[in-house]
Amino acid sequence: NGSPAESIQHPRWVRINALRTSLDTQLSTTFVGYNKADDLAPVLSASGSSKLLYLDPHIPNLIALPPRADFAKSPAYLAGQIIFQDKASCFPAYLLDVQPEDEDIIDACAAPGNKTTHLSAILSERVDSGMPKGRAPKIFAYEKDKRRSIILDKMVKIAGADKNVRVKVAKDFLATKPDSLEMEHVRALLLDPSCSGSGIVGRDDSVKVYLPDPKSAEATNTLSRKSKKRKRPKAGVETPETPATPLEVEESAPEIAAQDGTELKDRLKALSTFQLHLLTHAMRFPNARKITYSTCSIHFEENEGVVFGALTSPIAKERGWKILLRDEQVDGMRKWEKRGIWEEDKFDGGFSKEKWKADVLDGCIRCEKGTEEGTMGFFAAALVRDSTFEAAEP
Ligand code: SAM
Repeated sequence: NGSPAESIQHPRWVRINALRTSLDTQLSTTFVGYNKADDLAPVLSASGSSKLLYLDPHIPNLIALPPRADFAKSPAYLAGQIIFQDKASCFPAYLLDVQPEDEDIIDACAAPGNKTTHLSAILSERVDSGMPKGRAPKIFAYEKDKRRSIILDKMVKIAGADKNVRVKVAKDFLATKPDSLEMEHVRALLLDPSCSGSGIVGRDDSVKVYLPDPKSAEATNTLSRKSKKRKRPKAGVETPETPATPLEVEESAPEIAAQDGTELKDRLKALSTFQLHLLTHAMRFPNARKITYSTCSIHFEENEGVVFGALTSPIAKERGWKILLRDEQVDGMRKWEKRGIWEEDKFDGGFSKEKWKADVLDGCIRCEKGTEEGTMGFFAAALVRDSTFEAAEP
């Protein structure tokens, strides 16, 4: 919106999709001849044609390119080998730190699929390097909105994530029955619900869902046949449902649209009620051991407010859910300095144990937009089950 903070350049973040390629391969092909910068600053001020990149120190397989670098037509992008994804948006899947023994994993609000495909890549690498005996782990990606779930399905296929992801087209996560037999093996959940989107920086953060290359056309056509009962298209020929240019789909789909006369306060109240409902639903899965909660909002109410609401809920006490402390977080997240904030006037409850509150805030991860870190505004936290749980706050 032209505010001074937002006028700071935003890099073009590129996640190397380990399902299709490797960082080394991309450095010697798509980014051959690029110099590695020692920090982000020179990349931020470089022109779009500068051959400069920065290897992110927090998230594996993530690189930053100059703000105007354009790889939308590159073979690597069209083949799903590289994915445009803001650094902050990579935090949840990395923080969830899935392991082969996690069996079933749920991505509860998945479209357009950036975090789903990231989860899939992390899981695949780990399964390949130490497959446990028994059933192969799977990710179930729920998306309530039909149109967005079709885009999700497409993205999953192009990213090569369909080997361990099952897309639940137009399925409401809240309609799942945590105690059912079907959910018995769910051990980890990623929850990235609709939010106010107040952390998004201009249009650059909308997510381009790339078109398939000709090799993937059959996947698209299969999707078209299923989603719309149309005549079977010829393989490789684009159907009317297959757009001619890359689709742009916002990663965030606000659940409750801003309306004239709707005060921000009321809107945040409605959003946070919905977000807390989703999070406490996730906490009901009997064998779940870890949940990440994230938003691209900068508001306390949708972030720390929801986490504190969840941690003080009856289900947290009953099942022993607690915050994943900073010290327990995966390496790159532990090193991230920006942590949760507290806004006294925006939280109804009080806490007698100040240390507990401080630990929870330290477990929360924040990103600010318009800073030299080059991320959008974002929030992430993880909850874990503690077998040695003691009745806690308040
Ligand atoms: N995680 C996605 C990514 O990284 O690409 C972005 C998710 S976006 C912030 C939130 C999504 O949740 C929207 O597509 C919205 O339609 C979906 N959603 C909202 N409520 C849902 C529900 N109850 N069950 C499933 N999906 C839901």
